[in-house]
Amino acid sequence: MAEHRCKVLVIGGGPGGYVAGIRAGQLGLDTILVEAARVGGTCLNVGCIPSKAMIHVAEQFEAAHRFTAPNSLGISVAAPAFDLPTAMEWKNGIVGNLTGGVAGLLRKAKVRVIEGTATFKDGKTVSVIRPDGETDTITAETIIIATGSESVELPFLPFGGDVISSTGALALDEVPETLCVVGGGYIGLELGIAYSKLGAAVTIVEMADRVLPLYDAELTAPLTRRLEELGITVLTGAKVTGAKDNQVDVTDASGESRRITAAKILVTVGRRPFTKGLGLENLALDMDRAFIKVDARCQTSMRGIYAIGDVTGEPMLAHRAMAQGEIVAGVLAGKNESWDKRCIPAICFTDPEIVSAGLLPDEAKAAGFDTIVSSFPFRANGRAMTLEREDGFIRIVARRDNHLILGIQAVGAGISEMAAGFGLAIEMGACLEDIAGTIHSHPTRGEALQEAAFKSLGHALHL
Ligand code: FAD
Ligand code: NAD
Repeated sequence: MAEHRCKVLVIGGGPGGYVAGIRAGQLGLDTILVEAARVGGTCLNVGCIPSKAMIHVAEQFEAAHRFTAPNSLGISVAAPAFDLPTAMEWKNGIVGNLTGGVAGLLRKAKVRVIEGTATFKDGKTVSVIRPDGETDTITAETIIIATGSESVELPFLPFGGDVISSTGALALDEVPETLCVVGGGYIGLELGIAYSKLGAAVTIVEMADRVLPLYDAELTAPLTRRLEELGITVLTGAKVTGAKDNQVDVTDASGESRRITAAKILVTVGRRPFTKGLGLENLALDMDRAFIKVDARCQTSMRGIYAIGDVTGEPMLAHRAMAQGEIVAGVLAGKNESWDKRCIPAICFTDPEIVSAGLLPDEAKAAGFDTIVSSFPFRANGRAMTLEREDGFIRIVARRDNHLILGIQAVGAGISEMAAGFGLAIEMGACLEDIAGTIHSHPTRGEALQEAAFKSLGHALHL
């Protein structure tokens, strides 16, 4: 049993915790980070990175497959084959490189990393049960909670056997012949599409009246069309009423009951904050449902205790956790920092991809803005044609009075790389004239952004 003291203790080594740790170390604060599993957290180990790796594998296989049939590019490929264990090994290699890199960065910043599960004894003291069963005690001036989130389980579909969470779906050793995905949100769609491209017959069961219900119907329409093209069965307005063995009972939108037989059932109905074993009962933190309530400086209701990342609420995204990690380290180093972001861009890595930064048209309206909303379709964009992907569009939501851009959304293949530009425009307070007056390189999909701005100003050039 060892006793440690430090200025800053970070609990959890995901994107929130490791960024807070690295930045605190860089700012000269004596920092300890405790991680129960592996640094990198959900994102690097079982979330963002492995899912994007598998999406890439699926895209490559689908492309190879496409060339087995006559096509306008004149390419022909004979019977492409796929070996999932090889792809998983490649994916695991990337995860290993990145988590190893994070461990190296923490070392470089002189952060002491302790492996084990942390439990609050009181507001300044934490005990850590190490993997060998030994218990360490850490006394810290300030503590940052960054314990992340976990998959929500449905009572009648508990995880285990053929009922899997995203973590299970990212560790399969063979492509299931049939896959039933319960929940057509971010994870269900990203992984459902990937497994469909790898050869599984996929059914998505979504209880709302469309997939990705957080977005408007215009934004999800190209995705819905593509799901159909890929042969994915989508049941919207559908409720799972029960499940046994490999069968899921569903009542669809018309009230009809049907039974879906699936080799694997992937349940992706959301994620909830993870605080199990953390000893929150020994503290007096204000909560917002199961989330820990924080202010703009990531301070909780208890002096000296901060919280960041998924455990503090929506949107549960890695880049939000990282931004909070950076802010909280600055606050602890005496800097005058607080959350002042205008937007947190979100990307759904579906096919086509969907990006949303700032306000959707309905959100802008609900906030009382009189807006101009214009979109430019990729079917009129040269680069999209050369890439054989003319589906989708870029849309700008701007104030009618001063043309300030409130939101930018896009749907299209490969559009995720434009998210940074959308975020930059909103953070910098760009107006329609700024986008219209910026030279956008030709030929790129990005020209559709400039064209949407031209259109809002009443003079689209290529439409
Ligand atoms: P986490 O990454 O969850 O890390 C928390 C860490 O705390 C874990 O390592 C855990 O072991 C540790 N911990 C918990 N309790 C204790 C304790 N008591 N003691 C010590 N350690 C503890 N987000 C995106 O922005 N883009 C994406 O493309 C994306 N894709 C995703 C795909 C999937 C399949 C999933 C599941 C999630 C995805 N996310 C994505 C969400 C993203 O992973 C999370 O928003 C992000 O990881 C949150 O970071 P965090 O630091 O708050 O928590
Ligand atoms: P989600 O909230 O995105 O989607 C859950 C979906 O399940 C919703 O559409 C909901 O209507 C539906 N649903 C809920 N209960 C249901 C039921 N009983 N039957 C049928 N449908 C039901 O949740 P998720 O896909 O599990 O992802 C969790 C979080 O992880 C996301 O909100 C996001 O914050 C994060 N994430 C982000 C990315 C990304 O940024 N690309 C990728 C994956 C995950």
